[in-house]
Formats: sequence, C-alpha cells, structure tokens
Amino acid sequence: METRVSGSPRNDAGLKDIAMTLISRDPFARQELHRVLVETTKGCDWCGGKRRSGKKLFQYQTETDGGRTNPHKGLFCDKDCHDSYHG
Ligand SMILES: [Zn+2]
Repeated sequence: METRVSGSPRNDAGLKDIAMTLISRDPFARQELHRVLVETTKGCDWCGGKRRSGKKLFQYQTETDGGRTNPHKGLFCDKDCHDSYHG
C-alpha cells in the first residue's frame, strides 16, 4: 500500500503544513478524521475568529483505510466550527 503524508490540498499563498493530528476514527466507515494545522492570515471560515496562538487554523480531512484523503472545505479555529459549517 502506498504510504504518503498528504499536504494541504489548498495551495493558497501563505498556507503551510505544520502538523497532522488524528481526531477520531469511525470504525464503521473505516475512516479517520485528521486535522492539519496550517498557517494563515485569514480567520475561521465559520466564526471568523482566530486561535489564540495566532496565525494558525485547522484544516480537516478524512482518510480512509484504503489510503484515500478527502479534504474538507474551509479552515477552522476548532472542531465545533468545522462541524457547524459542515453540519
Ligand atoms: Zn471558528
């Protein structure tokens, strides 16, 4: 199986991958929700806010056991904003 570290699907200037974190696993769908910390000067796509640490927001993506990555649209300050936006 091909193993790869997926980069940010968005190539907006100023976005840079920093770290990827496993958030949760859905055993029924056989996929995991990951988040990637990215540098950005924009605010959260849901609430417009920024994290206290400054110019970083989370980009969320699901990764299937088959190795497929499905990036979720938008950058968010936390998972609540992601869930509200996509809910
Ligand atoms: Zn937010």
